[in-house]
Amino acid sequence: MRYVDEFRDPDLIARASAEIYRLADPEKHYRILEVCGGHTHAIYRFGLKDVLPSNIELIHGPGCPVCVLPMGRIDDGLAVAQREGVIFAAFGDMMRVPGTFGSPLEHKARGTDVRVVYSPADALQMAKKNPDKHVMFFAIGFETTAPSTALTLQRARAEGIQNFSVFCNHVTIIPAMRAILDSPDMRLDGFIGPGHVSTVIGCRPYEWIARNERKPVVTSGFEPLDLLQSIIMLLRQLGAGEARVENQYKRVVPWDGNPAALDAMAKVLTLRPYFEWRGLGFISQSALKIRDEFAAWDAEQRFQIPGTRVTDPKAAQCGEVLKGVLKPAQCKLFGKECTPEHPIGALMVSSEGSCAAHYNYEHRKAEAMVATISSVA
Ligand code: SF4
Repeated sequence: MRYVDEFRDPDLIARASAEIYRLADPEKHYRILEVCGGHTHAIYRFGLKDVLPSNIELIHGPGCPVCVLPMGRIDDGLAVAQREGVIFAAFGDMMRVPGTFGSPLEHKARGTDVRVVYSPADALQMAKKNPDKHVMFFAIGFETTAPSTALTLQRARAEGIQNFSVFCNHVTIIPAMRAILDSPDMRLDGFIGPGHVSTVIGCRPYEWIARNERKPVVTSGFEPLDLLQSIIMLLRQLGAGEARVENQYKRVVPWDGNPAALDAMAKVLTLRPYFEWRGLGFISQSALKIRDEFAAWDAEQRFQIPGTRVTDPKAAQCGEVLKGVLKPAQCKLFGKECTPEHPIGALMVSSEGSCAAHYNYEHRKAEAMVATISSVA
């Protein structure tokens, strides 16, 4: 038995589904936002919508770090990559994200030195192996990945490695949740709290949502039973008129987070006054920058960054989809101009992007069904 099997047990899933049907008031329509892109992916992958009553609507949130990065930041990173001797190093899920003049992969095809790494430590290692080059790591992610960037910068400084820098695009989850709650066109009943981010920040940072906004938050794991149990916990709170933060993902998420990771972040990174998010606009104190003590390894201080601002193509509705106002298939470009093979927006690229998840698990299924019916007719 693999460790995940018990979380995918069909009998337990059927029982959890029955409990959700029992708890959901048929007179109500529940709108539950899953914050994390990993949850969006799991919901589509395991077809969880099919085991929920139709009055439970799952809204996909802004928790895909690749998706929320505005195109201007990608252009800025690629502008540095045009410099003689610079290696642009990034995670694989950045490679096909469109910039104004193409994705990192398309730049690579045109001769830019673009390389995939699995961690910032890999990028630092690359710098050590290429002393005649400068390796710039294009850092993205929420608090989940920021500690590894911080630790790598500490190591770069300790080892005195000069041909390495980080272009920091790390963002923080709480201000994005606040922005969504402040959005006038959004009505929500509760949150499935992010699993990965919470391994670092814990559950306490969500307490204001329960206290001030009277919305329950349940931090959840990523297996089908994790998500169904989280929905049960939310429905129980809603049924009792309660709003608390609960931790369904106790096997991984400590209530107070990971002190070592938080300490590394605090020593190396600090909040920016504001940062632009795709779809959500400028949000104050929503992103991290590198502290001045590490300026020698900060690509934004080391190179002239153009500070490009680009609006998404007019017909693209990535912003509305990111805010949960539109479903992926409601974007005019979905499945036509914008597909995983030819993405217009980042939501169609990343495995955590709701458009890619909807396309790969729902749209392709529907296409296959139409093809079968046509062949029989
Ligand atoms: S279908 Fe494409 S353009 Fe439309 S919201 Fe999704 S990623 Fe953006």
